[in-house]
Amino acid sequence: MEALLGNERLKAGLAAAFAAGRLSHCYLIAGPAGSGKHTLARILAAAMECTEGEKRPCGRCLQCRKVLDGVHPDVITVDDPARKIVPVELIRKYRADVYIKPNEGLRKVYLIPRAMDMNAAAQTALLKVIEEPPDYAAFLLLTDGAERLLPTIRSRAVPLQLAPLTEAQGLEALSRRCPQTPREKLAEAWARSEGWLGRAETLLREGEGLAPETLGFAACFARRDKLGLTELLTPLERKKREELIPLLSQWVEVLSQALALRAGQPGRWEAARSVGQNRTSAACLQALRQLRRSVELLQGNVSPGAVCGALQVWLDLRE
Ligand SMILES: [Zn+2]
Repeated sequence: MEALLGNERLKAGLAAAFAAGRLSHCYLIAGPAGSGKHTLARILAAAMECTEGEKRPCGRCLQCRKVLDGVHPDVITVDDPARKIVPVELIRKYRADVYIKPNEGLRKVYLIPRAMDMNAAAQTALLKVIEEPPDYAAFLLLTDGAERLLPTIRSRAVPLQLAPLTEAQGLEALSRRCPQTPREKLAEAWARSEGWLGRAETLLREGEGLAPETLGFAACFARRDKLGLTELLTPLERKKREELIPLLSQWVEVLSQALALRAGQPGRWEAARSVGQNRTSAACLQALRQLRRSVELLQGNVSPGAVCGALQVWLDLRE
């Protein structure tokens, strides 16, 4: 339980429920990326499989260790990362699997990491088994927002909403996890994380190494180099969607920092500094919007070729 930082009220409620043996068969864990959804799901799954009587999850018994190491045969992740949505066929497949008894565990735990990406058909298929599951079955639904699930599913799940950490908690955790990183860098990542530790760690990781294409973009954008931008975007047309999205997200991050710098806030990246010095706030903001739109289009299944082509038109290098 200590693995999940902060969230004291939520943890106290769960500890009391575990101690009383009141474990639900369906939990809805909600919070944005980096908020600790997976950590909490592992704790819950371990509590369900733990064979120690006293304080579950003990974290030491064989069942707990297997869950925490991600190798427990009865803790099953339901997802197909290659698909944009969680397909209904996948839910149907596991719905049949539910009726096969656990291999070795007390429960059979189904973890759905992208519950918000189930369409209505998949949610309806899931609902059928959540309504009347075998007594050993349990479901952990992870979502960035509970409102993205059908009310009928929500009404059958115990909601667990993750809360952001305080600044003191966040900085303490960051300095423990990144002891080599200067304090001001940690503080800067924390300030941009909205209180989510995982997001702060992602920001720190990203800050350590910008992709060469990001440096190229910043340079071309700063010096209004239309030809350079075309030469940069053309090979990107052949990238996979899942490669292009993080790359363009990094460009968004550079422009956000350039805007922050222009507003007098501190920034870390040299790339953002040169953009901020050479372009107006309006130009940065305009490009930021177009890049965000591009990321959304990619997430909505528009091809990388079409998006890179559109960006050549959209990115205005005049002002
Ligand atoms: Zn245990």
